[in-house]
Amino acid sequence: MENDIKDRLSKIKNKIVVLSGKGGVGKSTVASNLAMSLALKGYKTGLLDVDIHGPSIPTIFGLESEHVQGKENEMLPLNFGDNLKIISIGFLLDDPDAAIIWRGPMKMGAIKQFIKDVEWGELDYLIVDCPPGTGDEPLSVIQLLEDITGVVIVTTPQKLAIADVKKSINFCKKVNVPILGVVENMSGLICPKCNEIVEIFKSGGGEKMAQNMNVPFLGKIPLDPKIVDAGDSGKPFLYFYSETPTAKIMENVIKQVIDKTIKKGD
Ligand code: ADP
Repeated sequence: MENDIKDRLSKIKNKIVVLSGKGGVGKSTVASNLAMSLALKGYKTGLLDVDIHGPSIPTIFGLESEHVQGKENEMLPLNFGDNLKIISIGFLLDDPDAAIIWRGPMKMGAIKQFIKDVEWGELDYLIVDCPPGTGDEPLSVIQLLEDITGVVIVTTPQKLAIADVKKSINFCKKVNVPILGVVENMSGLICPKCNEIVEIFKSGGGEKMAQNMNVPFLGKIPLDPKIVDAGDSGKPFLYFYSETPTAKIMENVIKQVIDKTIKKGD
């Protein structure tokens, strides 16, 4: 099994894992938009959604009714546009709510099988939407993927979220994966009337914490109702709303991720 994983993953130049201390902070939003942006820039990109607790990638890309294609021991990702291949653990479920019943060893087995069996072909980037937290699930994802280019940690500005993200940073340090940086999501609100940023939760907490813990800070993404609209209606935000102020801010964050990754073979 391990050799199969090595073989399949050897054709991927950069593996980026998107992690968060807890759910609901925008991890899937960041992962999907990072993947979308890379694909739009012409990079061959894969998006792997292994968030077993609530895979949201099918909804974000309007692919809820899709199922996995392929034969035994070889799952084929779905194509979205020219350069983006997507696979979600959600494609395996007849009923998305069934995810709740996957517990313990069964869940780990599913994660392992899932990472092993996807046939990506050659990729410039694989973006991984990881299960949240610092427990066994993100740990096994990171161990199975091996040789990870770097981790992007998503947080929100509140104190409680910051405490969680400290744990994520320590987790990455412990398992020895490079941290590309921290993104502070839902940081302020873009006012739909005047386009100015209004602070709702105290913003800047993620930035301060990144500084204190000596990891790069990639930027703040504001709360924007269009992100919710995009996510709920299956229209990837950076694809359909690329001219908005929030899209430009998001692209700045993504540019830093690209600049920090080594494009092997380029
Ligand atoms: P996670 O993967 O961390 O659980 P999601 O990316 O699924 O979080 O986001 C949770 C919800 O918050 C989704 O409805 C998403 O559309 C919304 N959301 C995420 N980031 C933003 C943002 N910057 N502005 C507005 N809504 C957001």
